[in-house]
Amino acid sequence: MLVFKFGGASVKDAKSVRNVASILARYQKEQILVVVSAMGKTTNLMESLVDAYMHQRDFNSILDEVKSFHRAIISDLIGPNSQQFYEVENLFIELECALDTDMVSSGYDFVYDQIVPYAELISTRIISHYLNENNVTNRWLDARNFVVTSSHHRRGRVNWDTTQNLISKRAKKLIEKQLTITQGFIGRTSENTTSTLGREGSDYSAAIFAYCLDASSVTIWKDVPGVMNGDPKRLKQTTLLPDISFKEAIELAYYGASVIHPKTIQPLLKKSIPLYVRSFLDEHAPGTIVQDHGLQSVVEVPCYIVKDNQVVISLSSKDFAFIIEDNLSHIFSALASCGIQINLMQNTAISFTICVNNDASRIEKFLDLVSDTYLIDVSNDLQLLTVFNPSDSLDFKEIVGDKTQILEHRTQNALQVILQ
Ligand code: ASP
Ligand code: MG
Repeated sequence: MLVFKFGGASVKDAKSVRNVASILARYQKEQILVVVSAMGKTTNLMESLVDAYMHQRDFNSILDEVKSFHRAIISDLIGPNSQQFYEVENLFIELECALDTDMVSSGYDFVYDQIVPYAELISTRIISHYLNENNVTNRWLDARNFVVTSSHHRRGRVNWDTTQNLISKRAKKLIEKQLTITQGFIGRTSENTTSTLGREGSDYSAAIFAYCLDASSVTIWKDVPGVMNGDPKRLKQTTLLPDISFKEAIELAYYGASVIHPKTIQPLLKKSIPLYVRSFLDEHAPGTIVQDHGLQSVVEVPCYIVKDNQVVISLSSKDFAFIIEDNLSHIFSALASCGIQINLMQNTAISFTICVNNDASRIEKFLDLVSDTYLIDVSNDLQLLTVFNPSDSLDFKEIVGDKTQILEHRTQNALQVILQ
């Protein structure tokens, strides 16, 4: 059994969906589960819908954009009169009903999970129907019936026992019989509300299903030739990494390499399920294989990872007292309760500095929790550059350009700098 994952870029318009159909048509003899995310950049659009809703601003123009984007794809692919059109229209109505409900007091993360997943539900409905109309017979499956998470909204933690049980008892039989299309990124809590796994979580969904199905491999189809040692948009020369160990992939993802969602590798590693990253634009290109090499390093070149829109927060004691274990434990528990992930941290005698993604609502909550105890300094709009596996003669001028380096951090196999 194989698990394929198609991300936003691979289903961003009608032409791309046709391309997905032609790839799947060539695998008709295999048992495949296809995990699909939202079309193009729809998740960003859904996030702005949530923002407008939470701030009680008029969101109708955003809602219209969501509808017209999908309607245009449907009418190109299927024609406006098909049954599918009404199925998607029903989802639009459901979304409108959700937006009519007063959920503001339930908080941003909860509301997010009740709104944003519609993008995945809509995209899979469209794709499944288009495939069925074009001789790629398949079944649409609601991932929320199988992926059960904790009630941590926007960062649901998988309840592995229940999920495993549901997938192996119910989903497996269906997938064995027929090509199956389901959503990435979404699940449900044990209280039956929709939850999500974090941005770019569809890769993780593919890994969850692969683990529970004992799949023989996972393939992530992307618009790049595979995993590269840097972003071709930022670096003049990049090279494909043909083979990566699970350990290296975890490290790359940890430092922010966006090709693989950080949590994706773990379930695959546990069952030694290889992960292929391949180009949906060139099906015959070799791509990258991520597989078990134990602790051995197989990546030989330096890898460059850039994270934009970073925020550096420095906390220092108000009375020049040392930052000791008690303070750190207080700071870390505040970070954990706000769901903030640290991209880099450094401490001195009287201060503790972290670099985090610019997630305004979480940062605000965190600052509320710590500002009584510490002096706080916040710098926005920074860039975090990580060189994984740096060579001795490392020259990263090309990416740094004329930016100023405000912090540097070295570990055995990585060099990290924060740039302004
Ligand atoms: N649609 C979600 C996102 O854009 C999940 C994913 O694509 O992996 O983050
Ligand atoms: Mg994606």
